[in-house]
Amino acid sequence: MDSVLQKVVREVIDFYDGIRDIPITPEVTVSEIRRHLKHRYGEFAGPIPLEEVLDDVFSMMRKWMVHNTHPCYYGLFNPSVHLASVVAETLVAAYNPQLAVWRQAPGAQEIERYTLEFFSGKLGFDPKTSFANFTYGGSEANQTAVLAALTHVFPEYGEDGVSSIPSRPMIYLSGECHHSFEKIAHMVGLGRRALRLVNMDEKLKLDPDDLLNKIKEDEDKGRKPFMVVATAGTTGAGVIDPLPELAAIGRDRNLWIHVDAAWAGAACLSEKLKSSIQGIDAADSITWDAHKWLSVPMAAGMFFCRHRETVARTFGVRTSYMPDATEDTFDPYVNTIQWSRRLLGLRVFMTLAELGAEGYREEIEKQAEMGDALRAGLKERGWRIVNDTPLPVVCFTHERIESGAVTTAEILKKIYARKKCWISDVVLGGRTRALRACVTSYRTEKRDIDLLIREVEEAFSSCSPA
Ligand SMILES: *Cc1c(COP(=O)(O)O)cnc(C)c1O
Repeated sequence: MDSVLQKVVREVIDFYDGIRDIPITPEVTVSEIRRHLKHRYGEFAGPIPLEEVLDDVFSMMRKWMVHNTHPCYYGLFNPSVHLASVVAETLVAAYNPQLAVWRQAPGAQEIERYTLEFFSGKLGFDPKTSFANFTYGGSEANQTAVLAALTHVFPEYGEDGVSSIPSRPMIYLSGECHHSFEKIAHMVGLGRRALRLVNMDEKLKLDPDDLLNKIKEDEDKGRKPFMVVATAGTTGAGVIDPLPELAAIGRDRNLWIHVDAAWAGAACLSEKLKSSIQGIDAADSITWDAHKWLSVPMAAGMFFCRHRETVARTFGVRTSYMPDATEDTFDPYVNTIQWSRRLLGLRVFMTLAELGAEGYREEIEKQAEMGDALRAGLKERGWRIVNDTPLPVVCFTHERIESGAVTTAEILKKIYARKKCWISDVVLGGRTRALRACVTSYRTEKRDIDLLIREVEEAFSSCSPA
């Protein structure tokens, strides 16, 4: 055990320390990987010493992945992760606590409760009366929201299903919302056509007037609007929908307001940024991923809800082999989608404990500043910024891209081949294709921003002979 674990410790340290020198993009074909696995492991006929397996895994991971913990990875909210969270994950695997019921792992349960109450308070919910749980990710949190909303608005849904609801239930969201809702509408039996896309203004924010129009149109057709999804920090462009206006509409018309703040929820930890998500506290439910801007490993989403009773009704169940729920403790198996349940929250608890709220604030604000620096640097060199957000995601284009002389795909290909930075592209509002760079690492420094700008310029100029 000792030598195996020493080896792992060495690798984690070397990987952390050496990350800047590792090629950020892999160069490999699928057949190469499959051949390797076949050659090395065959039919798993005989045992292999764990140290040998480790060497092989280290090598595969280092060579064959996009290194999203690299400070020059400007991708899709996959963060660099704090040491505390890496250690936490190791401990969770070793202790393997079962969090389905409180009595099985009281310490772990209370660690999660305590952590969630802190974040719940930061969002402006009352931690003592509202509901919160850790999810596998934002998609599970969004699904929880839709299930809770259906159960809340349609008392017959739980026992008799969607088909028992006399008029067709509809959900309203913008075209820039997260695509998990398509899968969710499919899964919960609403059907994908229950999603009604509301127009956006020129800044890609959901337009409240069009929302009211669409609601009216649907009501006239005998449909039943029951939920509005507002996005706080769209995946593509970091746009924040007008939360206070949408909350007011929800209140007036008895609609469930869900705020999908998977990435930008963390803004509530910053005095500077929290005004940008003002109004989030009026939501019925909120999605916020710890595994995005809180810089912990994946599989740590969070779901918050004002209606504790509704959630308990949605997921309530009785068995002979599990204990009945108690008054003053929390049994996740009767309150959430999952049954057997990993201790998801330790990585968040340990990181929060180590950094403190102040440490998180500094990190989040530093990343926002890096985003500002990137925006300014690109503008200076003649790029056009196409999104408008206080968050560190920058979508940009150039007149030569807009005229069709150069494509974003060509530029990306060159950037990936150079293996120093990673960015992506995106189509905004169904029209404008742009390059997209998002600061996702707390380790990104000004020099990394400068490097990104140089790489973009280099790739661009090699695409477009003057
Ligand atoms: C990432 C994201 C999701 C999905 O979350 P996962 O954790 O990937 O399941 C949902 N909504 C928004 C706005 C996101 O950015």
